[in-house]
Amino acid sequence: MNEEKITLLEAMEISPAVSAFCEKQEASVRAKFAEIDEICEYNQWKVLDAFQKERVSDQHFETTSGYGYTDIGRDTLERVFARVFHTEDALVRPQIISGTHALAVTVFGLLRPGDEIVFAVGTPYDTMQGVVGIRPEKGNLTEFGVTYKIVPLNEQGLPDIEALKKAIGPKTRVVEIQRSKGYDYRKTLSPREIGEIIKAAKEVKPDVIAMVDNCYGEFVQTIEPTDVGADIAVGSLIKNAGGGLAPIGGYIVGKKELVELCAIRLTSPGLGKEAGATLGVTKSLYQGLFFAPTVTAAAVKTAVFAAAVFKALGFKVLPEPDEERCDIVEAITLNSEQGILSFCKGVQFAAPVDSYVTPIPWDMPGYGCPIIMAAGSFNSGASIELSADAPITPPYNVFFQGGLTYGHGKYGVMRAVMEMVRDGVIKIPE
Ligand SMILES: *Cc1c(COP(=O)(O)O)cnc(C)c1O
Repeated sequence: MNEEKITLLEAMEISPAVSAFCEKQEASVRAKFAEIDEICEYNQWKVLDAFQKERVSDQHFETTSGYGYTDIGRDTLERVFARVFHTEDALVRPQIISGTHALAVTVFGLLRPGDEIVFAVGTPYDTMQGVVGIRPEKGNLTEFGVTYKIVPLNEQGLPDIEALKKAIGPKTRVVEIQRSKGYDYRKTLSPREIGEIIKAAKEVKPDVIAMVDNCYGEFVQTIEPTDVGADIAVGSLIKNAGGGLAPIGGYIVGKKELVELCAIRLTSPGLGKEAGATLGVTKSLYQGLFFAPTVTAAAVKTAVFAAAVFKALGFKVLPEPDEERCDIVEAITLNSEQGILSFCKGVQFAAPVDSYVTPIPWDMPGYGCPIIMAAGSFNSGASIELSADAPITPPYNVFFQGGLTYGHGKYGVMRAVMEMVRDGVIKIPE
């Protein structure tokens, strides 16, 4: 690192020892960064091709209000998404308020009384547990006569395909596969592995709907779950697919008749995809999708860098620095509550927004222990922006993700290390 950078970083609270140590770890993952750049380039071209084939023009950026009938910007954006994900159709709406909402719309859209949903890779994401009725939130799916089964991961923490095959019965209509780990300490699934799970499920019941929770996974590899047999895939626009620019929204991509069922659930029977004004956000959704491959690559590099640095400091990291990446999340086992507090403080202090506040744990509804969250984001709660969350419970795993630019992500990791040094949690090895 040159003098100029070292001096600036010192003024930004990073000691020369910390910057030198981190720089050394970065050098060890250069080959990985080159791989990420290759994937990014491919995905950028894939997105660009979809824009061109759909003849996107500035008339598509205009806004609609009220019912939003014949909103050509919205309809064209949905065709762009369908092209990118190689699906028949897509629902991409600002009325979808979050990833959880997109998932809820999908399961309520697809399932009918008497149907069953099977969770193929263990207990689903925390908020989904409330949607389905695994945690008894009001209005959950079981109140409507839908049942569920959960197929636990095997002893190695991997998908248990044989158990899944046994779990699928005549009532099973949907098999849900969650790509990313959520707050579980398990390996994220690659599209290839998701493809294997889907193949096994369809061997038992060919007409079962394969649904993938693709949150945090978009553009991390060159293929998506919909390229390996998923009938429908779902995600949030304040994660990867919104490129940091989408201020709100979710997407659902898949088979035409399934997307239609979701649209009907989101709006109303008889209306489906036809209605839904875009209130001026369409351009940000287009631009966000255009930036999504690059922003995702920055986030993946940040995760790889964090893995290299914290592994070198002696912590357990998942994935390992050189392992295949399937989402943007890095899990780090920090071994102590103070470790988590110091790490999250560093991530917060590194933010462009709200860098002067100190995050503290709180009892979030629906969790069994206090949770700490660090984020100073342009869009509230956007976890494509640099952020860290951790349940305050042994073994003190922190889940670290995002970074709109690698320069920011790198600084965030260095600042987390710095705060841990300052609080006496770690020492920089000689
Ligand atoms: C983020 C996420 C969701 C949805 O979360 P929201 O905060 O509602 O957008 C669902 N599943 C997984 C695996 C996630 O990471």
